[in-house]
Parts: sequence; structure tokens; C-alpha cells
Amino acid sequence: MQALLQQLETLVGAAHVLTQGDLSAWTQDWRQRTHGRALAVVRPANTQEVAQVVKTCADYLGAHPNCGLSIVPQGGNTGLVVGSTPDETGLQIVLSLQRMNTVRQLDAANLTLTAEAGCILQNVQDAARQAGFWFPLSLAAEGSCTVGGNLGTNAGGTQVLRFGNARDLCLGLEVVTPQGEVWQGLSGLRKDNTGYDLKHLYIGAEGTLGIITAATLKLYPLPKAQLTAWAAVPSVQAAVELLGLAHQHLSASLTGFELMGQFALQLVSRHFSALRVPLYQHTPFCVLLEAADAESEAHARTQLEGLLEAALHTACVTDAVVAESLSQAQTLWQIREHIPLAQAAEGLNIKHDISVPISHMAAFVAGTDAALVQALPGVRLVNFGHLGDGNLHYNVQAPEGVDPAVFLKDHEPRVNSLVFDAVQAYGGSISAEHGICSLKMEHLAHYKSPVALAAMRAIKQALDPQNLMNPGRVLRR
Ligand SMILES: Cc1cc2nc3c(=O)[nH]c(=O)nc-3n(C[C@H](O)[C@H](O)[C@H](O)COP(=O)(O)OP(=O)(O)OC[C@H]3O[C@@H](n4cnc5c(N)ncnc54)[C@H](O)[C@@H]3O)c2cc1C
Repeated sequence: MQALLQQLETLVGAAHVLTQGDLSAWTQDWRQRTHGRALAVVRPANTQEVAQVVKTCADYLGAHPNCGLSIVPQGGNTGLVVGSTPDETGLQIVLSLQRMNTVRQLDAANLTLTAEAGCILQNVQDAARQAGFWFPLSLAAEGSCTVGGNLGTNAGGTQVLRFGNARDLCLGLEVVTPQGEVWQGLSGLRKDNTGYDLKHLYIGAEGTLGIITAATLKLYPLPKAQLTAWAAVPSVQAAVELLGLAHQHLSASLTGFELMGQFALQLVSRHFSALRVPLYQHTPFCVLLEAADAESEAHARTQLEGLLEAALHTACVTDAVVAESLSQAQTLWQIREHIPLAQAAEGLNIKHDISVPISHMAAFVAGTDAALVQALPGVRLVNFGHLGDGNLHYNVQAPEGVDPAVFLKDHEPRVNSLVFDAVQAYGGSISAEHGICSLKMEHLAHYKSPVALAAMRAIKQALDPQNLMNPGRVLRR
């Protein structure tokens, strides 16, 4: 494939076709569960270069159908389901969008911002804020993940209950197809009923249908005040009741509602002792909730205090604090955001990013906790997540003193079946926001409707008949 590599060097410059040295930043996944090998890491500078790289690869594959060449699109490489790194064949090109990091336009009247796919999410949030607007997609990886990856995975995060997923925040896309053509769909229109809405095919496709090179995103007015509260709750059912009360009291001002189990908070306390975790020692769960008010801080505080008073009255909350300053609010969010990091520090664990209807959440947690503890005595459950969206990170950690790697090797399939069977029984999804890619592909084949799988295969075959884009991810052909 030397001839192909030389062609790619001519297109993007030899300095941006990496084949030597330590490529682990591109070839190893964030959780360090896999270590792939790339034919090359290619870093185009603009959409035209992306299109030329893809066309060159498509032509090469056409001429050498059994060469095994394919392309893995990559943004910040923070994905949690092994989708942005190459496999071990050494035949895949990692196409990194890192150099495409320009905010192309901010249209204040249209309330939109158009950003290239490699823009870091935090930089997009900052660009919006500097112009007096709010781009509300927010997740703990926002300092490294990119717009392309956010859309490729249809990321969720902490503001979904008010603003929706990345999909709901996107009005248009620019995409390079697997044939190396450019689809210019950066319309910024809120209404466009001219047939199939193609952007929704590429959003959440995890790089299997094409490469997103830019996106037009929705902006919102900055709120006058944002307040954060932390509450101790006696059970998951009580947290669900609190969510109902929060919807009533705060209405559209409610922007975040996170549930955190006691063990998850214990891990934060253990591994990040500088973060002082409030109220968790004598309660099985805590809730972090956020209100964004369009009127004033005083109005926000009255609303939030009214909610907590009502919740204390009905006993769905046993204790609560409201952050007095921005820095206190940031610390509370940091505690929530450090849960995945604390878990990683504790050792490998079996992760599930599931959703069930909010009305079934308490029964799901109680039933699945009990089944796991019975099947694997001593197992430790790290439950936390976006309860406001019916989404829980329901993670299973080895019993104290057991080697996490051995635990995973011996028990991962059984734990997964137990959890996913329960998810299915409650009408839920085995992947609420992280996606499928390599890690969940076999589970998708088992749990998704055969009719839906057949339709997905037909779409993949129609758009990418050469199977050039991220093959063996999401769907097996
Ligand atoms: C600490 C931490 C917290 C997280 N919290 C959340 C959370 O709350 N909610 C959530 O949803 N996720 C979360 N994630 C997962 C991850 O951050 C998101 O999936 C993020 O959207 C991935 O963006 P990325 O740029 O890193 O994409 P990558 O990891 O590079 O890629 C992810 C997938 O998208 C594809 N892709 C990347 N760029 C493109 C492109 N330009 N065109 C087409 N396909 C592309 C890749 O091929 C891959 O399949 C978290 C991750 C970490 C490490």
C-alpha cells in the first residue's frame, strides 16, 4: 500500500500522514481496552482534502477489492465503545478531523453557529458565550471531544431533558460520502420538509456512513441565572418523585437532573479527596439538579427553594443544599463529572449505558441490583446518570479485593446478559448515549428488532457498498 500512502502524502502533506513513532493517541481507545494498529493517521486540513482522501481510498479499494483497506473517522477519541480507533490488522486509515477546528460562522439572527467537525466542544460553547449565546450540549469530555464525534455518536450529556441530544441541536451538516463526494447540507433551516432528512442518517451512525466535516448548530439566549442544588434522596423512587415535582415547579427552567448512588460518590471521595462530597454518607442516593432562569437570580432562587421545601414536605428529599456561588456550583458538577474518572481509578469495570422509561427506573434498579448481588455476591454497583432522561450508567465493579481484569474475564458476558435482559423487559435501550460501535455490536444483534436491523443493513449497503467506512462497527454485514 506504499503507493496509496504516497498519494495521500501528496494530497495532505507528508507531515500529516503519520505512520511512524508513537501513534497510541490515535490507536488506543480512551478506556484503554483495545490497542489497534493503523496503516496511517491522516490529518486533512479542510473538506476538500477529506473528500480527496476518501475518493483516493475508495478508488484504491475498487482496484484492490481484497486489500482490507478501510477508514476510521476520529475526532477527540473520547468515545466509550471503541469506535474511533483502528483494529489490529494495520490496514485501516485513521482519518483525524483534529486540524479542522474553525468556527465558520455565527448567525445571531438565525440563532445558529456553523463549526467544523474537529472543533472541540468547549471551544464551541465559548464561541457562543462570547457572542452572548448558549450552546447547551455539555458532557464531562467537553474539553477534548469534538463536534464531529458528538454528532457521530449523537451525544447526550447533562442538558438533554431541556434541549435534547446532539441530534436535536443540529440543523444542518456537511458530509463527505464514502465515494468522496461532498453533501452540502449546512442549511440552518428549522423547517425543510423536502423528502428524507438525510442529516439524521449520519447523526449517530458512528462513522459508518460518511464523514461529517461541519455542522450548523442551534444556539439559545444565555440565561440570566443558573442555580445548582444537591439533594439527599432515600431511594430511586423518591428521586423520580423529586423529578416530577421539579418539572411542576421549574417547568422549562429545569435543565439538569442527575442521580448518583452512594458507592459512586464514595469512589469520588476516595480517589479525589480534594473534592468534598456533601450529604452522601447517610443516604443511598443524591441528586444534582440545575435550573436556568430567564428572569433573574432572585427568581431562580425562589423557584428552587419552593421546590426543595415541597420535596422535604413529601419526604422525597431528606436534606438539600443550594450552591451559593458559581464556584460552589462548579464544584458540585465536578463531583458528578469525576465519577467516571474515580471509577477508572478504582479499576476496570463492566459499563452499561442504558435507558428505561423513567416510570420503570426504580423497579429496574431494585430488580437488577438484587439479581446481580445474588448471582455475584460482593459485587459493587456504581449507579449514576441522567435520570431526567431515563438514562443510567449502570456499572458493575468487582468485589473488593478481586482483580478487576479477572472479574471481567470470568463474568462480563453473564453480567451483560443479566442487565440487558432486564433492560429489554422494561422496554429500554442497551445504549442510551454512548453508541454501539465494536463494544456493543453483538448485543445489538441480539436485542434489536430484526426488522430494524434489516433496514439498517439496507441503508449501509446503499450508502457504502464498498464497506469503506468504519466496517465491523455497529452492524455486522
Ligand atoms: C469522561 C467522559 C465523559 C463522557 N460523558 C458522556 C456523556 O455524558 N454523554 C455522552 O453522550 N457521551 C459521553 N462520553 C463519550 C464521548 O465523549 C462522546 O461519545 C463524544 O461525543 C465523542 O466525541 P469525540 O470527538 O471524542 O469522538 P471520537 O471518540 O473520536 O469518535 C466517536 C465515534 O464517532 C465517529 N466520528 C468521530 N468523528 C466523526 C466525524 N467527523 N464524522 C463521522 N463520524 C465521526 C467515530 O468514528 C466513532 O465511531 C464521555 C466520555 C468520557 C471520556
